[in-house]
Amino acid sequence: MRNPQHDVLFEPVRIGPVAAKNRFYQVPHCTGLGWLRPKMAAALRGMKAEGGWGVVCTEWCSIHPASDDLPHPNAALWHEDHIKDQALMTQAVHDHGALAGVELWFGGARSANHYTREIAVDVASIPNLAGHPYQPRSMDKSDIREFRRWHREAALRAKQADFDIVYVYATHGYLLSHFLSAQTNTRADEYGGSLENRTRLLRELIEDTKEAVGDRCAVAVRYSVGGDDGEAAELTAERRDRLEMLAELPDLWDININNYYQEMGVSRFFKEGSLEEYMSFVKSVTTKPVVTVGRFTSPDTMVSQVRRGIVDFIGAARPSIADPFLPNKIREGRAEDIRECIGCNICYTGDGLGTPIRCTQNPTMGEEYRRNWHPEVVANRGSDAEVLIVGAGPAGMEAARMLGKRGYQVMLAEATRELGGRVAREAVLPGLGEWIRVRDYRQQQIQKMTNVQVFRESELGADDVLATGANHVVIATGACWRADGFGRSHPYSMDALNPTANILTPDDIMAERLPSGPVVVYDDDSFYMGGLVAEKISLADQAVTLVTPEDVVSDWCDYTSERFYVQKRLLELGVTLQTGYQLVSYDGQDVRIVSGYTDQEQTLGANALVLVTARQPNDALYHALRERFNETSASNGPTLHRIGDCDAPAIIAAAVYAGHRFARELDTDAGQRGQPRYE
Ligand code: ADP
Ligand code: SF4
Repeated sequence: MRNPQHDVLFEPVRIGPVAAKNRFYQVPHCTGLGWLRPKMAAALRGMKAEGGWGVVCTEWCSIHPASDDLPHPNAALWHEDHIKDQALMTQAVHDHGALAGVELWFGGARSANHYTREIAVDVASIPNLAGHPYQPRSMDKSDIREFRRWHREAALRAKQADFDIVYVYATHGYLLSHFLSAQTNTRADEYGGSLENRTRLLRELIEDTKEAVGDRCAVAVRYSVGGDDGEAAELTAERRDRLEMLAELPDLWDININNYYQEMGVSRFFKEGSLEEYMSFVKSVTTKPVVTVGRFTSPDTMVSQVRRGIVDFIGAARPSIADPFLPNKIREGRAEDIRECIGCNICYTGDGLGTPIRCTQNPTMGEEYRRNWHPEVVANRGSDAEVLIVGAGPAGMEAARMLGKRGYQVMLAEATRELGGRVAREAVLPGLGEWIRVRDYRQQQIQKMTNVQVFRESELGADDVLATGANHVVIATGACWRADGFGRSHPYSMDALNPTANILTPDDIMAERLPSGPVVVYDDDSFYMGGLVAEKISLADQAVTLVTPEDVVSDWCDYTSERFYVQKRLLELGVTLQTGYQLVSYDGQDVRIVSGYTDQEQTLGANALVLVTARQPNDALYHALRERFNETSASNGPTLHRIGDCDAPAIIAAAVYAGHRFARELDTDAGQRGQPRYE
C-alpha cells in the first residue's frame, strides 16, 4: 500500500488552460533521436507516460532551419511532415493520460547549421559558442520580426500536433539568453540597454505564443536563475528582478541554472537536489507552478520539495530514463522497486555522439520501438530449462533478474563473497558511491525470487559447471585490466616494461593496493578510470603525474559532461598533467615518455607505474567449457554462452544490456521477436 505521505505527489496541478494529473514532470531532455528517429522518440516518450509521468516533454525542438544542431539530433517543427512526426509523440503520451510538452528552440550563436547551411542569427555577431568557425548575423529589426514570426508559426504547428504545453526557451546559452544578458547584448535599440529592453524579446515571445495558442496550450518558460559559475552578483540579481517582472506572464516556470554541467552533473561531483539553493526563492515571487530538476529518486525528498514550497512539480530527466515507471511504483507503494539513476551520464553521450540514448540502469531505454522492449514486461519462460550463470557482475545479475522474472530456474554463482563484480569494485572510487545502485537494485529484485538461487564464494571450474546439470550455461566472468602496456597507443605488449618493476593496474588501486610516490599513471583509456586512479592515489598523499597520449585528460568524459570537473579536481589536488605523451619504457626507476608530436623524450622518476590501458576478458572458463562441449558434442547437452565484459570489455551499460538481451531472447526465435527496426 502506498505511504500516505506520498499522496501529495499524486495531486493534479493546473497549468494555465490544462491540468496535469499528478506532479511528475519529465522535463525536456535529449535522446539522440530528434527529427531523425521520430518513431523511436514517440515510443520512448509514450513509455514515460505509461509509467505514470503526468507531463512528458520533447527534446529541444527547432522552430526553423536557421537553427539546426546536427550532429546533435534535435526535434523540429519546421514544416507539415514534422507535425505528423510530433503527433506520433503527443498521441503516445495522450494514450496514457499525460500532457505533452514541446520545447520550442532557437540556437542562435550555438547553431552552426552544418546540415541546413542557413545563416544563424543572434543578438550580435558573436563567435559560435559550440566552438565552430562560424558567426551568426547580428539581427536587425526585420530579423527580429522574422524570428518572432518563425516562433509563432512553430507554436501553431505545435498546437496542430496536439501539444498541451508550449515552451519559450530562454536559457542554456541559446539565442534568448544572449538578448537577456547585459554582457552579450550590446544593442543600442529598444532590444538592448536597460533590463526592460533586454527582456523585451522574451516578453514578446511569451505574449505571441499565448496569443497564438494560449486558448488551448499552456505556455511555459525555461529560465536560468544563475548559480555559482562565477557570474557577477549584479547579473545574478538581475535574473531575479526579471523573473519578478514577468512572474505572472507564463503559465509555468521551468527553472535552471547557468552551468549546464552542474545542472545535469554526474553523481561523482553533484548530489541529488543540487539546484535548490539557487532556485528556492522562485515560488515566493510567482503564483504560477514551478518545476526544476535535481536527479530526484527518493519519494521522501520529492515530498519534502513540495511541502517546503520549493516546487509544484518534480522535474526529472535522468530519473525518468533510468526508471520510466518511477511514478507508478510510488503510486502503487512499491518505491523499493525503483531503479534509481546512478548519475553516470551515459544517457547524455548519445547527444554528443549523434546516436540513440542508452542508459546504464535501464537497458530498454531507446529500444521501446526498435526492439519492442518494455521496461516492466517480458514474456514468460519458453521452456522448463535450468540456467546456470557464472559471475555476478552487472551482466550476470541482470541476466539472473530477467530470467528469474521470466520464470526460469536460475543458479547464479559468484567467486567472491560480494555480488556486483566491477560495480562493487568501482563504487569505492572517489565520488562513485551511487554506482552501487546497479548492484543493489538487481540484488533486491533477485532476493524476492524463489526461483533464483545465489551461490557466493563459489568459483566454478569446468567440472563444477558440468556437474550442475544446467541446461544453459552463461559465462559472465568479466575482465581485468592489463598490466603489459597493451592499449590504444600500443596495440602490442611492451617489452620495454621491466617485469620486476612495480607496475600496477586499476584493479590493484580499487583493491587498495596503493603505491607510494612518486607515481606515474599512464592513461591510454581516456574515460573515467585514469583520472579516478590518479585522484585516489593523490588523496593518499602521494605525488602523481598523469600521462596521456590525448591532448586533454579523460577525453571521453566530454561525452558525459564531466571532463572539465575531472581536470579541475586533478589540478586542485596538485596532480601533474602531461598530455600528448606516449609511454616508452619503465625500468623500475624511470618512466620514459615521448611527445606524440615531436620525438622529444622526457624521463619521470617513479616508484610505481599504473597502467590504465585496456582490459583482458576473463574467458578461460568459457574456452575450457567449449572444448569439453566439443568433445561430447551431445545434441541434447547444455548450451554455452558468454555475455558482458568476458565477451567484449566495454562500459557497464553494455554489460547490463548484454545480460538483459540474453535473458529476453532465451528460447525465443528470431521470427517470434522480430528483427530490430534500424530506421
Ligand atoms: P560484467 O561487467 O561482464 O558483469 P564483472 O567483471 O563486473 O563483469 O563481473 C564478473 C564477476 O564474475 C566477478 O564478480 C567475478 O568475481 C566473477 N567470476 C569470475 N570468474 C568466476 C568463476 N570462475 N566462477 C564464479 N564467478 C566468477
Ligand atoms: Fe542515470 Fe546513468 Fe541512466 Fe543516465 S545513463 S539515466 S545518468 S543511470
